[in-house]
Amino acid sequence: MIKYIRTRKEWLILLIRVYHGMEISAAVCWKVGEGVKVEEIQVDPPKATEVRLKMLCSSICHTDISSIQGSPMFNFYPLALGHEGVGVVETVGDEVKNVKEGDTVIPTYIEECQECENCISGKSNLCMTCPVRLTGLMPDNTSRMSCRGQRLYHPSSCATWSEYTVIDAKLLVKVDPSIDPAHASFISCGFSTGYGAAWKEAKVESGSSVAVFGLGAVGLGVISGAKMLGATKIIGIDINDMKREKGEAFGMTRFINPNNSDKSSSALVKELSGGMGVDYSFECTGVDPLLTESLEATKVGSGKTIILGLGNEPYVSLGLFTIAFGRTLKGSMFGGLKPKSDLPLIADKCINQEFPLQELFTHEVQLTDIEQAFELLKQPNCVKVVIKI
Ligand SMILES: [Zn+2]
Ligand SMILES: [Zn+2]
Repeated sequence: MIKYIRTRKEWLILLIRVYHGMEISAAVCWKVGEGVKVEEIQVDPPKATEVRLKMLCSSICHTDISSIQGSPMFNFYPLALGHEGVGVVETVGDEVKNVKEGDTVIPTYIEECQECENCISGKSNLCMTCPVRLTGLMPDNTSRMSCRGQRLYHPSSCATWSEYTVIDAKLLVKVDPSIDPAHASFISCGFSTGYGAAWKEAKVESGSSVAVFGLGAVGLGVISGAKMLGATKIIGIDINDMKREKGEAFGMTRFINPNNSDKSSSALVKELSGGMGVDYSFECTGVDPLLTESLEATKVGSGKTIILGLGNEPYVSLGLFTIAFGRTLKGSMFGGLKPKSDLPLIADKCINQEFPLQELFTHEVQLTDIEQAFELLKQPNCVKVVIKI
């Protein structure tokens, strides 16, 4: 192994960065509807329980787009964006024990104290000691990022469309440095949310039937999880015909494009499942009427629907009779995955290439060209845009 020795100048630069912060490039959204701009921002050193990461790679998740458009969950600006990604630990706070300088890590936005009622029971991944933060700030209600003297908020636990970011060390999951950076970024949110929803929330059984509404990274993650659990009928629904090939690569057995029929999506799913509907459905689009459709697509009395797509409206309509007939609707954050317990297992599968994550990687931009990424997302063949940093 080659031992890297820093020169005096490099030590000096490092000391300045550790104690005085650094000027770096990051994507900033100044207000709703303005899109993002790459700006020179200040990133402060980490506090005692925090870590500063040098980002290797990031990607775009639908929640980022919601934040730019004005999400009911995150209504504070200016925003430093991005929550998917992978990075290397650059500086650690004095009290950090779980990671060290040079470790390759994935940032998450859910904590797992392993001591509270939910963490122990196994019923939920939502830690009661450290709830998901919706303040856009660090746990001490301050920010480590600023731009021209203005505090920057970050909708998730940190901002990954940035050369460097600061995050609470408890939210980091260490991964093998041999992991493909783009694939590591995909499993940090979208794909794992879908995979976890099939695995942890629905607990899909062998031989069961599944319908997935929306075949983006989350929906393709659901298909992958359902296949791993032995589902024999996996129906993908999307209005983009190019998603058929993607769905099949992950294990989808039938494809529906509802635009090619006068019938409703739920009626089309029932036609492919003996008239009764499926055991489990997953709503991954956040499009209001599809919530009722995804419920209606499941069996009366026992069907279960997991809602993963979040639109920009705080309230949605729901067909009362769909749920009155004994169906269950379950919400989910991060697909029910516990970062410390479950994400390392997905990272191992990622390294062992147990799912074809390269199928998600359709486009790539440099951080400095991130504005182009939003145009790429409109292309029909686009699944994920990787941001090289
Ligand atoms: Zn807990
Ligand atoms: Zn996400």
